[in-house]
Amino acid sequence: MPHPSISNYFISLNEAKSLSQSIKIPIEEEEVNIENSYNRILSKDVYSLVNDPPFDNSSMDGYAVIFSDTISATQENPIELEIIDFISAGHPPIKKLTSGSAAKIMTGAPIPEGADSIIMIEKTKEVDGKVLLYCPSFPNYIRLKGENLTKNELILSKGTFLTPHNIGLLATSGHSKISVIKKLKISIISTGDELIPPGLEIKKGQIYESNSYVLEGLIKEIGHIPIRKKAIPDSIEKLRIELNNAALESDLIITSGGVSMGDLDIVRKLMETEGEILFWRIKIKPGSPPLFGLWGETPLFGLPGNPVSSSVVFQMLINPWLKYITNSKGPKEKIIKAKLTEEIKNKKDFLVFPRVLVENNEEGLIAYTKTHQGSGNLRSLTTHNGIAIIYPHIKYEINSQIDVLLL
Ligand code: AMP
Ligand code: MG
Repeated sequence: MPHPSISNYFISLNEAKSLSQSIKIPIEEEEVNIENSYNRILSKDVYSLVNDPPFDNSSMDGYAVIFSDTISATQENPIELEIIDFISAGHPPIKKLTSGSAAKIMTGAPIPEGADSIIMIEKTKEVDGKVLLYCPSFPNYIRLKGENLTKNELILSKGTFLTPHNIGLLATSGHSKISVIKKLKISIISTGDELIPPGLEIKKGQIYESNSYVLEGLIKEIGHIPIRKKAIPDSIEKLRIELNNAALESDLIITSGGVSMGDLDIVRKLMETEGEILFWRIKIKPGSPPLFGLWGETPLFGLPGNPVSSSVVFQMLINPWLKYITNSKGPKEKIIKAKLTEEIKNKKDFLVFPRVLVENNEEGLIAYTKTHQGSGNLRSLTTHNGIAIIYPHIKYEINSQIDVLLL
């Protein structure tokens, strides 16, 4: 392949993914308390320290009884049993149940020895230390020891991206600390003479910088640490200084802007002369000009400046790279199928990513474009709730099924 920067060669998204995934960086582990484990990636398999439940217990407020004592109970001819104990959750029963007796029991309390079933309070009446049962008891109201989890069972495998329910499961199984992948530090450098931060008064020719905020959020969502830098002007000297600083303090550098064919596309120019480019330009729309390479030893993704392009390329390329190098199984991409209610044009050789609105109607999931699709229109990522994946070899008509990545 000729030097990527001087060829007219665009590569496919899959080629771009595998080229970027050929560059790896050291991945470290650390131990964290589970309260700090939200959105982290497990670095080791986790096994349960206990059975869940740890003991047989009642799933109802009622009475623990012996089933054979209760078989003949009816509304008209209730059975009478003597109440010998009161057992509440957190307190082990002391007395053993024998025929003719019952122990009042609360939800979650351990089943007393001898009992084999529960009758809920609603089907009973308590009179003078005795209980009347108006129907037979229920063996299935006992939650059996280990029915959810067995001690030493694998509960979450290495690479699991920790959601609230995963974290709850870690607690249930007795873990207060776990090993996770150390968060990666990711520098975000926006370039452009026209960029000013929101909050300042805007002058003619200027725009408010937004990409770094989008990228910051996308990085946090997948559990890493964004280092959002102040935007720099289109100056090779300033960029060189920023890249050198970023390489010292981060594991990955993401730049935005300055990777196209223009005279001031400084990221591409500096990477061509002083960095190392592995690829430049991908067959996707929006977002075709990204580059990937190394600044010294630090991997660098150069994103296009158009706000939609920069977000789409992050999601389609950088997100998979981060998951790959950290061996992470999450967060899971939510790709669904929906029915198009309008025609969408495909593009020869290119993957196209229109933003679509997915709605549920009587026909199932439908998708359509709502607002202007320009790659400069960041709003299209807020008025729509998905990015459609339009393949080059398929013709898309009304009623075609399309793949949509939910935002
Ligand atoms: P570039 O890739 O530098 O040629 O920029 C393409 C377009 O995106 C131009 O209209 C820029 O003004 C705009 N743009 C570049 N960087 C940003 C940014 N960080 N936030 C918002 N818009 C940007
Ligand atoms: Mg620019």
